[in-house]
Amino acid sequence: MRRPHVMSRLIHGEAKTPKWDFSHHVVPPMPSSVTFRLSSAARGAQGFAEFAAPTSQRGKRRPIYIYDRLDEPIRGMLEENLAAAEGADTSVTFASGMAAISAVFLLLCRAGDDVVAHRTLYGCTHSLLSSWMPRLDVTTRFADLSDPARLTRLITPRTRAVYVESPTNPTLEVLDLGGLAEVVKRANRRRRPEARVRLVVDNTFTSPLGQRPLAHGADLVVASLTKHLSGFGTDLGGMVAGAKEHESGLFLVRKDFGGVLASKNAWPILVYGLPTLAVRLAAQQERALTVARFLEAHPKVAAVRYPGLDSFPWKNLARAQMTDPAGHFMPGTLVYFVMKGAPAKARKAAQRVVDHVAKDAYTLTLAVSLGHVRTLIEHPASMTHAALDAKAQVAAGIDPGGIRLSVGLEDPRDLVADLEDALARA
Ligand SMILES: *Cc1c(COP(=O)(O)O)cnc(C)c1O
Repeated sequence: MRRPHVMSRLIHGEAKTPKWDFSHHVVPPMPSSVTFRLSSAARGAQGFAEFAAPTSQRGKRRPIYIYDRLDEPIRGMLEENLAAAEGADTSVTFASGMAAISAVFLLLCRAGDDVVAHRTLYGCTHSLLSSWMPRLDVTTRFADLSDPARLTRLITPRTRAVYVESPTNPTLEVLDLGGLAEVVKRANRRRRPEARVRLVVDNTFTSPLGQRPLAHGADLVVASLTKHLSGFGTDLGGMVAGAKEHESGLFLVRKDFGGVLASKNAWPILVYGLPTLAVRLAAQQERALTVARFLEAHPKVAAVRYPGLDSFPWKNLARAQMTDPAGHFMPGTLVYFVMKGAPAKARKAAQRVVDHVAKDAYTLTLAVSLGHVRTLIEHPASMTHAALDAKAQVAAGIDPGGIRLSVGLEDPRDLVADLEDALARA
């Protein structure tokens, strides 16, 4: 059969799936069975033996389902489509983005190991690495990885993971994934497989239709499905994608730590989220460009970061790295802008903007999260990145007067009008 393009693949999935025998349904029904009937003790034993076995031929043979926390058909179909979109051998889903991210560190690190991470990260990832992993004696050094050469000196014999987001949340800094992958590859030259350093990239901000880190040399991709992939703001979820060698470990981590994506949450992501992803992204990023241009011309705005603007500091890198599977530039749907003024004054101005939005705007909603069909606005310094104190925020490059916008599907004229009103009050 001819191989379909990703946009078609995300609508139809595998043309024929052994996961499922409701052969007359066009859309898979939403299952809700925690446990599965086994036809004999031998069949049950075979199911347990095959679960997470490194040699398992997932997707090739009819799976033996045992219990929801191990494996389940809707999640399995979602995982096939996610792997196809990321260009990965395999993908394993989790209850949330954070469940997926913590699973990666549990998979890669043991007591005494360390992690090198970029200084700017999603707030909860930062607190996972700085508050919880040290209890397991896994430490993290946060550093500025904008120059990959700097990574060379940061990798120690105990380093097991290099962890980055690109573009970063919320400042939309673009990191050179290929350059970082080169450094990691060199560091691994004389290492035994179990001691290798892995480059892990959080791909939540672009989605796989906006960037595929594995193609740039990353070992593992993590993402929150809650954002672009779910798209409508109705379901939490997370995923890890990468080479087959990681599949068994990820399944076992998920089984024992229990952060399983509920099949009822996997269903809308499979049925509504992925099939509409390409058109949502295209329409939303068109609006994002309009909004970014409006903000750039506004006298109260000191700076705007949007990869589609000519003024974007990492323009060439973004154009090479942030593309859809056909190679078109995908500047994305997130816009970051900073209010004018000294830190305290800019912080107040940003708070006034979002407070006005909360009270009076129609098309803008003051809320965290991103990648939804509704436009969401937030003030990172007092919200998503509040886990970092003022000093840590400065170290992470988060401006007191910075505002993050996740542009949705509303008419761009309404978005601009609402922003104009909000900025007038700043
Ligand atoms: C939201 C988000 C996460 C966490 O995802 P949840 O589904 O909320 O657990 C991780 N990384 C980034 C970049 C995010 O935006």
